[in-house]
Amino acid sequence: MDYHHHFKKRFGQNFLNDENILNKIVEKANMPKDTLAIEIGPGAGALTSKLQEVATNVLAYEIDTELRDSLEEKFKNTNVQFIWDDFLNRNISEDIKSYQNKNIYVVANIPYYITTPILEKIVESGVDITKIVIMVQKEVAERLSAKPGSKDYGSITVFLNYFYDIDELFVVSRNCFVPKPNVDSAVISLEKKKLVRKAKNEKLFFALIRDSFQYRRKTLHNNLKKYDWNTIEKVLLERDLDLNIRAEMLNLDVFIDISDALESKNEKKSI
Ligand code: SAM
Repeated sequence: MDYHHHFKKRFGQNFLNDENILNKIVEKANMPKDTLAIEIGPGAGALTSKLQEVATNVLAYEIDTELRDSLEEKFKNTNVQFIWDDFLNRNISEDIKSYQNKNIYVVANIPYYITTPILEKIVESGVDITKIVIMVQKEVAERLSAKPGSKDYGSITVFLNYFYDIDELFVVSRNCFVPKPNVDSAVISLEKKKLVRKAKNEKLFFALIRDSFQYRRKTLHNNLKKYDWNTIEKVLLERDLDLNIRAEMLNLDVFIDISDALESKNEKKSI
């Protein structure tokens, strides 16, 4: 690792410095033949080197151009390409247009300060990504992999659950990083669902989950004042659910049922 590097807190720079963990991340990603691995934030290139060995191609986005000379030199004439830009400003489908690989995976130790925007960006890009294996802050890993009824379960959990099966894989101590951060980390995997149960109106569905969790201490009814409560009530009763229930108790299927019922009602109205 390049210890002469001037670490930048504002870019969330905590470089992974543990061979075992690096190997474990790549092992868990378990990339099939002919895979393009996308990495967000290669840093000094420790994970990049591991990805390079197993992926057919690697595309890494790095915002810190101070790393440019050493990384370009390290991976000269290899299957690794860099884009020197803020990942959040990129058009992923444009960036990968020239790659012909069968599979696309995201494998990265990402900058934690933009974990949710990164995940939203990936999902909203519409690019067919089979699996995402990323290191995140431990508390965030718990939120993303939370089950209904747990205090960590929130709208981002439901949103990601719509597309992916999410698992926390293993915890990583803060001692494995340079410089040492104030939090522990965990590696999670998001595996694209083979069969997504689609909501009839996805725009309505995404707005509904956001609104349902707006005030965590409020009941679903109180958070969803602007929706047709009679329709929602019917769905809850059909499922024997308490009418004073909170959003954190509801699984993905119930949210889709509610959204679809509201959509059917709207369709009827507009006939
Ligand atoms: N992958 C390296 C490792 O495991 O050692 C570095 C991980 S470090 C937690 C996060 C990296 O993301 C840093 O290199 C940082 O400069 C980069 N980064 C931060 N914000 C970024 C952004 N918006 N777009 C692309 N890279 C970014």
